[in-house]
Amino acid sequence: MGNKPSILVIYTGGTIGMIQHPDSGTLQPFNFDDIYSQVLVLENINANIEFLEFESLIDSSNMHPDFWIKLASVIENKFDDYQGFVILHGTDTMAYTASALSFMLENLNKPVILTGSQLPLGIIRTDGRDNLINSIEIAMALKDGNPIVPEVAIYFENRLLRGNRTTKTNAENFSAFISGNYPSLAEVGVRIKYNYNFINRTNSKKLKVHKELDYNVAILKLFPGISQHIVSSTLNASNLKAVILESFGSGNAPTDKWFIKQLENAIKRNILIFNVTQCKEGSVEIGKYETSVDLGKIGVIGGFDITTETAIAKLMYLLGAKHNSGKIKKLLTTSLRGEITI
Ligand code: ASP
Repeated sequence: MGNKPSILVIYTGGTIGMIQHPDSGTLQPFNFDDIYSQVLVLENINANIEFLEFESLIDSSNMHPDFWIKLASVIENKFDDYQGFVILHGTDTMAYTASALSFMLENLNKPVILTGSQLPLGIIRTDGRDNLINSIEIAMALKDGNPIVPEVAIYFENRLLRGNRTTKTNAENFSAFISGNYPSLAEVGVRIKYNYNFINRTNSKKLKVHKELDYNVAILKLFPGISQHIVSSTLNASNLKAVILESFGSGNAPTDKWFIKQLENAIKRNILIFNVTQCKEGSVEIGKYETSVDLGKIGVIGGFDITTETAIAKLMYLLGAKHNSGKIKKLLTTSLRGEITI
């Protein structure tokens, strides 16, 4: 093996790993043993690159928290053997997976770079080749002997974004993701320019993997005209423990008495209501407008500039840890992995 860094590429499914069937033209997963013939330049990268293919490859629309637990376990088991990890993943739920892993892998201190593509590797114009090669380069990158990106990130179309700040916003362009409230961790052109000031620092603590996730959560997206019936059926769903209230603008909502009353009753039943803005940029500021004052009074928790994807993952992680509701409220308004700006 020599002094070359070792990188583990974990293939979970998604468009990147597909090839067009020569007769039917349909997209099918290809055998990852053939990866070197798809991406010949991999041989020239100065690293030991190993591939691990999940036994069940999925379209990421079939993603489930149980799969995140398997992924986190793979990283835990292989942690000491590799300098960095690259996860090949479908784009549809990549932001959710990146967010979940950021919470599950505490004291990560190594790069976990998720990437995928809009066109399969087996298609000539694929964006997958560049995404894969650059992700490997980033996973290998060291400065003064330390990994430059010791956190969970998404690499896509020339940009490296913090995983738990990312949202998929485009189903067609090669540039599919945005990070509306946090700068890129790196921009890739002729050189890879790292924005060191915005990248998490390493610490000397040991990796701790959290594998309990509680997915008794829901999203209630507000829209003009939302009815009592819809609000009530969401808030009264069985086993519900937390609701993301996707609010307007800086955390605003209708002031109708019935609406506030329903939320208040849910909070009395110990259901957490977490206010996350529908906007892709900017932050929730409860009390800025009259239309959010009552939310603050009844105990709705402001989510600052968290994305909905990360709010879901953070709630699953905190509820899974079985903290009491006071502690969960405190941690929801604390940046645990750089996911919010306070
Ligand atoms: N539906 C695919 C997936 O998320 C799309 C992609 O890979 O980009 O798995």
